[in-house]
Amino acid sequence: MTLLEVKNVKKTYTTRLGGHLVQALRNVNFSVEKGEYLAIMGESGSGKTTLLNIVASLDQATSGEVLLEGRDLGKIRERDLADFRRDNLGFVFQDFNLLDTFSLKDNILLPLVLSGVKYQEMTRRLEPLAEKLGIRDILEKYPYEVSGGQKQRAAVARACITDPSILLADEPTGALDSRSADQLLDLFSQINQEGQTILMVTHSARAASRAGRVLFIKDGEVFHQLYRGDRSNEAMFAQIADTLTALAAGGENRG
Ligand code: ADP
Ligand code: MG
Repeated sequence: MTLLEVKNVKKTYTTRLGGHLVQALRNVNFSVEKGEYLAIMGESGSGKTTLLNIVASLDQATSGEVLLEGRDLGKIRERDLADFRRDNLGFVFQDFNLLDTFSLKDNILLPLVLSGVKYQEMTRRLEPLAEKLGIRDILEKYPYEVSGGQKQRAAVARACITDPSILLADEPTGALDSRSADQLLDLFSQINQEGQTILMVTHSARAASRAGRVLFIKDGEVFHQLYRGDRSNEAMFAQIADTLTALAAGGENRG
């Protein structure tokens, strides 16, 4: 089943000084099946964050459509967007975006509090998730009292606790040391195997090598895609590295 469809998406930014136009996305097309783990790679400035923000309904495309479970995000009323995001999407950002004055537990429960979920139901959902993410013993701590890896695992718990249709991640390993990054990627693989659809944008080949499929964007368009098939992470990494070399050399578009 197709979960997400991105059709002919273009995004042009007008800079304030002199009204100069930046074409961040020229024409992006792809879809994501339910249960997929898709990574989108591209160099810095290639439009990854722009694309993710449009899929997240945090920003609007200049033209084109984004459909989540058949629903056109561009047609959701402004005042319904926050509820839509909270009920359907999970977010993991590079810099965690946890609230410093809330314990990890309260950070994780926040989306449920905002949805009016009963306390008993909140703890019923929190316990297995905290156990799985290895943060059960630090739930009462504050973000400034724990490591980056622990913060990011709390952010994953916050993203997953609403059981979102899709988990969206923007450079989720970008602020982590390599060991914490690997642990986070192990978690992503695990929750994907349990059925969670994931869309991750990253410039890290190591992170992307864990996905089931990798799209490469360049100059605001999808340039190429790789399916994992039965490749190991190492073989996938090597294939990604080769593709990045071809991309940097300005190879021909193989869509
Ligand atoms: P990435 O996440 O791949 O590094 P971005 O999506 O952040 O890329 O940026 C893509 C392009 O759009 C870049 O040229 C960037 O400078 C430009 N851009 C991003 N956000 C804005 C904005 N708010 N206003 C103007 N230009 C922007
Ligand atoms: Mg970015």
